[in-house]
Order: sequence, then structure tokens, then C-alpha cells
Amino acid sequence: MVASEATPFSKTGGLADVLGALPPALAARGEEVAVVLPRYRMVPLDGARCVRENMPLWIGPGRYTADIYSLERKGVTYYLVDAPEFFDRDGLYSSGGADYWDNFTRFAALCHAGLGVARHLFRPNIIHCHDWQAALLPVYLKQYFANDPTFTGVKTVFTIHNMGYQGIFGKDRLWWLGLPEWLFREDLLEFYGNINLLKGGIVYADYVTTVSPTYAREIQTPGHGFGLDGLLRARTAHLRGILNGVDYHDWSPERDHYITANYSASDLRGKEQCKMELLGIMGLPTDRPEVPVIGIVSRLAAQKGFDLIAPVAYDLVNWDIKMAILGSGEQQYERLFRALADARPDKFGVYIGFNNRLAHKIEAGADMFLMPSYYEPCGLNQMYSLRYGTLPIAHATGGLDDTIDGSTGFKFRPYSSDAMLGALREALTVYAVDRDRWRKMQVEAMRRDFSWAVSAAAYSDLYHMLAG
Ligand code: ADP
Repeated sequence: MVASEATPFSKTGGLADVLGALPPALAARGEEVAVVLPRYRMVPLDGARCVRENMPLWIGPGRYTADIYSLERKGVTYYLVDAPEFFDRDGLYSSGGADYWDNFTRFAALCHAGLGVARHLFRPNIIHCHDWQAALLPVYLKQYFANDPTFTGVKTVFTIHNMGYQGIFGKDRLWWLGLPEWLFREDLLEFYGNINLLKGGIVYADYVTTVSPTYAREIQTPGHGFGLDGLLRARTAHLRGILNGVDYHDWSPERDHYITANYSASDLRGKEQCKMELLGIMGLPTDRPEVPVIGIVSRLAAQKGFDLIAPVAYDLVNWDIKMAILGSGEQQYERLFRALADARPDKFGVYIGFNNRLAHKIEAGADMFLMPSYYEPCGLNQMYSLRYGTLPIAHATGGLDDTIDGSTGFKFRPYSSDAMLGALREALTVYAVDRDRWRKMQVEAMRRDFSWAVSAAAYSDLYHMLAG
């Protein structure tokens, strides 16, 4: 596998969780797996050994080298690409809010290093590339190494984790990337006058996957294809959605170290304690514990659907509910939630920032969890919520639609404030008047299994199908 981030080495989002968990799950099934990653500044080399010095990386006119370090973790070999001019920086992709100007070369270097590792250190049958940062690998492979015996029979899989990030650069970058001008074609890398690396991955990979079956269908429609829906429709025979898994080692109320009391489907008493603690932490009154608490943990980005909240803020303010909100991101949404907290500090507990411990406490202490995402390739928080008996209320899109059903949560469509309010109302009604049904739904939700073993089996099947 080749990717730009993986826990525990580097993380900005869900991609890192996948790369941290899927390879070990595949290894546990008996696959031999190696992962090629950049060695960013924050990645320590403790315990790693240098297995290749000065591996050449020739990118267009540029001549570079990388040292490759290797270490074993959970049955997987990780190869860290140490090329300081590209990766020894403060951020992964940007600094101070601005993308690094040379991201196209930085991740072209990662792709070349991936091919170098495949040539010299680890001979794969399948090279599995993730997101636009690794999308040039299938392009280089077919462009330059089609007749190279090293790569005979090697198949590529390309996984899209979010269509919203495509790696779009000016046309002149083709030359800098060492790619011929004729690739600037509508059916290849060209995209509205620029080049689009994600598109390259989709065109050149032998098989394309994304992170839920519903998202695989949605990205073939104009509403969710971000301009690539036509191409994805053309590739539909080689496109499938495989749901991400959850790391239940970290996210289970039975053994979560971050929460004040553990609990399980057969004994939910601890959840009451978690709720009381959460109310205290968020500065919300604890005198009426029967009032439902609705949790939110999210990047505050347009994708996540918070535009639906402002138009109905008046309703939310006047209902007998409390909300525990954790998130950071775009200013407009930070302002919205701060304004709600200022207006009704007894109802809205808001924490702006990134705080993993609090995320766990919200999952455990809330009664319901709100995810109005406009689109959601897979989504993790709803799966955590199910496991914590915190019933999700979600827009029926992507992975949210695939993981929640009428016996475990409350879904709405279309994407509108009214539809969201309708689902909220339904949830609040069941919570208030039909405690038996609520309890049954909690137990059902907590018993659902979205573990990585299931996803890894699906990837294994795909690899073996491709490898023949
Ligand atoms: P995305 O990758 O689009 O952000 P996911 O639901 O797939 O959405 O994954 C988000 C992950 O990041 C979850 O593990 C979630 O708990 C975590 N997360 C998001 N925002 C915060 C925050 N402000 N504090 C702590 N954890 C957060």
C-alpha cells in the first residue's frame, strides 16, 4: 500500500485510521503487507532501520534521492521514505493554512519511492494506492514500466477516501512530473484546463474502490461526483465500495479508558454516570438528567452539514434538549456554535478544538448523536455512536446510510433543515415516550459489528480476484 498518512505515524484524518488498521487486519488473514509512507518531521525513526540508502527518485527534470527506513508493526512492514527536502516540514500538506506549493512533486516522490520499494525491497502482486497523493503511481507504472519484467502481472487498486480532495494543479506541472504532454486529454489527466491527479488514479488503476457501497453509487452522480461522475460511470464495472471498519480496541464502552464508567449492552448503568460527567465537563446543568443530550464531534466543514442547523436554531433553542458539541474548522461554524452557547449556556455545551478524550466522553455520555453531513464517504463517528448505544440521527448518505437502519437510529432525506428536524423530533419522541423501544434500539445498535476483519476480508477477495 502507498499512502500519505497512517496511524500511529502521522494523521490528519480518517485516511490515517484506515492505513493504521487495514494492513494489520489483512496480515492477520495471512496476507503479506507492506505500507510505504512519507517520513514527515514528526515521525521518529526509533526502532526503524535503514534498508536502502540514496534510492534515486527521478521526477521530470529533478534528480532526488531518499533513504528508506523499515520497521515492523502488527505483522506489517512499514517503509518510511526519508527525503528531507520533501517531507521534513511542520505540516503534512500545508503550513499556516496554505498548501505547500510543491505538493505535486512531494507526492510524486512518494509514488516513485513506492515503485522503488516494489522493485528492490518488497515484491507485491497488488499495489494499493490511496487518495490523490498516491494516484500518480498507477500512472507512472503504466506509462513507464508497462514492459518492465519487475512489474509483470502487478495490478493496482486505487481507493478514494473523499471526492472532495482531488490534487488539482496547473497544466505546466505535467512536465515537472515527467509526464508527456499528450496525457493532457479529457479522458486522461485533463480537468477543466488543469491536471487532476485523483482523475489519473481513477483512469489508470486496474480497480477503483471507495469506502462505502452507497458512496460508490453516489459518486457516479453529478451531485456527488465533483466533476468526475462521468468518468466513474465509465469505470463502474471496476468500481466497488468497501465499508471501513472500526477499531473496537479503542472504541468500546466495555474497556474505554477515557470514560468515567464502563458499560455494555447487557448493563447500561455506567452510561448514566458518563452522561452526568459529560454535563459537568460541558458546563451544562445536571439537575434534570432525563433531558436528552445530543452529541456532535466533527470537523467543522461544509461537508458535515452544519448549514442545516442555523435556519432551525430557534427550534433547537426552544426544545427541551441539551447539546454537547466538539469540533474545529471553518470559522462560520465555530461562530454559529459559539453563538448558540452564548445564547443558552444551559443548553449548548461547546468546545472548539481537537480533543480525543472529550470525543470519547461525548460518545459515551450523550443519548443521541447528530451527523447531518451533506455527504459522508464512510464516517466513523456514527459507528462509534452505535457501539456506545448513542443513537445516531443522520442524513441518509454514503456510509451513514449503509451503517444505520430503522432499528439502530434515525435517518433523514432529503438534505434539508426540515427533514433533519423531523428525524430529531422522531428520536426525541421515542426517547421521551417509548423507553422500551429506545432501550431495544440501543442494544441492537451496540451489537452491530463493523470490525476491520469484515472489511479486510472484502479487500482480500478483491486482491485475489485481480491477481487471478
Ligand atoms: P472525517 O475523516 O471526514 O473527518 P470521520 O467520521 O471518518 O470523518 O472521522 C473523523 C475522526 O476524527 C473520528 O475519529 C472523530 O472522532 C475524530 N474527530 C473529528 N473532529 C474531532 C475533534 N474536534 N476532536 C476530537 N476528535 C475529532
